[in-house]
Amino acid sequence: MFFSLPLRQLYYDGQVHAASSGKTFQTINPATATPLANIQVASNSDADTAIAAADRAFPSWSQTPAISRARILQKAAAILRERNDEIARIETLDSGKAFTETSTVDVETGADVLEYYANFIGSGGLKGETIQVREDVWVYTKKAPLGVCAGIGAWNYPIQIALWKSAPCLAAGNTMVYKPSEFTPLHGQILAEIYTEAGLPAGVFNVINGAGDVGAYLTSHPTISKVSFTGQVVTGQKVAGSAAGNMKYVTMELGGKSPLIVLPDADLENAVDGAMMANFYSTGQVCTNGTRVFIPRSMKTTFENRLLEKIPFMRSGPPLDEQTNFGPLSSASHHEKVLSYIRYGIETDRATLLCGGLEKPTMPQSLQAGYWVKPTVFTDCTDSMRIVKEEIFGPVMCVLSYDTVEEAVQRANATEFGLAAGVFTKDLNQAHRVIDQLQSGITWINTWGESPAEMAVGGWKKSGLGVENGRRGIEAWLQNKSTLVDMSGVGATFLPS
Ligand code: NAD
Repeated sequence: MFFSLPLRQLYYDGQVHAASSGKTFQTINPATATPLANIQVASNSDADTAIAAADRAFPSWSQTPAISRARILQKAAAILRERNDEIARIETLDSGKAFTETSTVDVETGADVLEYYANFIGSGGLKGETIQVREDVWVYTKKAPLGVCAGIGAWNYPIQIALWKSAPCLAAGNTMVYKPSEFTPLHGQILAEIYTEAGLPAGVFNVINGAGDVGAYLTSHPTISKVSFTGQVVTGQKVAGSAAGNMKYVTMELGGKSPLIVLPDADLENAVDGAMMANFYSTGQVCTNGTRVFIPRSMKTTFENRLLEKIPFMRSGPPLDEQTNFGPLSSASHHEKVLSYIRYGIETDRATLLCGGLEKPTMPQSLQAGYWVKPTVFTDCTDSMRIVKEEIFGPVMCVLSYDTVEEAVQRANATEFGLAAGVFTKDLNQAHRVIDQLQSGITWINTWGESPAEMAVGGWKKSGLGVENGRRGIEAWLQNKSTLVDMSGVGATFLPS
């Protein structure tokens, strides 16, 4: 069989190692449905070896001055930027995401976070605090790293997720064993090699490959102090459950079904562009997608007409082509899942199909076997429909009309998820009022999707635990030590004087 990229193995202790399992899996190019590379699966003993390498590296890395750690991470960020297009090309082949996205967002937003945390620790960001309790008594605190941490990635933003986890983890002085999604594993070794080239000591960042069983072994391993997971709510519940039993720290970045509320005074162009961004960017495979679009009843027809005029500007095609801005879905199984939701929306929920649907888009011969789908809009949706309640994770917008803003807010919050939310309006007072009432960890006003390094992001309710990025993001990779110093010369005693 033809593979366009070389075999991938495991990466630990500063170099590539063959897996001992004797098993491999394939990663598939979703645009063409052809295999890209064979990947060796880590056995439990490979995982043990990688974890042991990370454990050995921890004492020295955690004691390395922050300024020196920062220098290495800054260099890795620079290498990522130098190699941006080459890495973006591999991400496009592996995930199907258009090169117009991977070359401008995926590597760059990952490198931004690496640079952000490198600069943060390099400028004394890991400082504790001192509190004077009495004249002779002080408390000082220290932020200590946790030890060996596990990172588990989802397939939709492969290298970005790896960087959003490893950057604060390593900056804080921890070491990491990272497992990419089995659907998009190619970035793992690339990132590990870049870290090594930048001067990261052997064992500080390690990569093992495999599916959920490898992830489960890694996250329940007794040496692992913290698990940072990105994926579905159901998987997150299992991982968090097993971690909690062993008192491991966790960060959970999970799914959503986020509401986007257009207020009656919103700028129509802005609202339509925002709704398209919130549903079709990355072919709808973004965790924060605003898939429940609430529109004032009186505005519905105008909104939908403008949407229909703009949808033809989304162009499916060879993902590496610079004209393409809408790639395939990431895998055969995900394609089947998204189509089954569209089928359910048409046949069982009986929403009105405004555009898109089950028919495969017309593609050139070389792409016909790929996992393509049309941007799909359902309207006349109701809150009880399955397509409105469950995360589809594909390019499927549900338009819901409302009569009052209070009603829209109440319906927007009537979900077990709480990842993202947004509002479109020219009335900024109203915007802040509505945002304040929305039960979500990530919110936008008159825009959708931007997530800079400075912005802490994470879900409420079942959408997650903790945050990534921003000042708060690094706290998730640190533990606190408080020390009370008594300088009075009269230490505490319960004995009579
Ligand atoms: P998934 O839960 O199927 O898999 C995620 C990762 O977990 C994979 O690496 C997988 O191998 C691993 N895994 C599976 N079972 C495991 C187990 N028992 N123990 C440990 N690891 C296990 O998710 P997915 O389909 O890869 O990703 C899509 C989901 O990710 C969507 O729900 C999306 O919303 C969510 N997501 C969330 C964010 C966020 O920041 N909140 C970002 C991106 C994606």
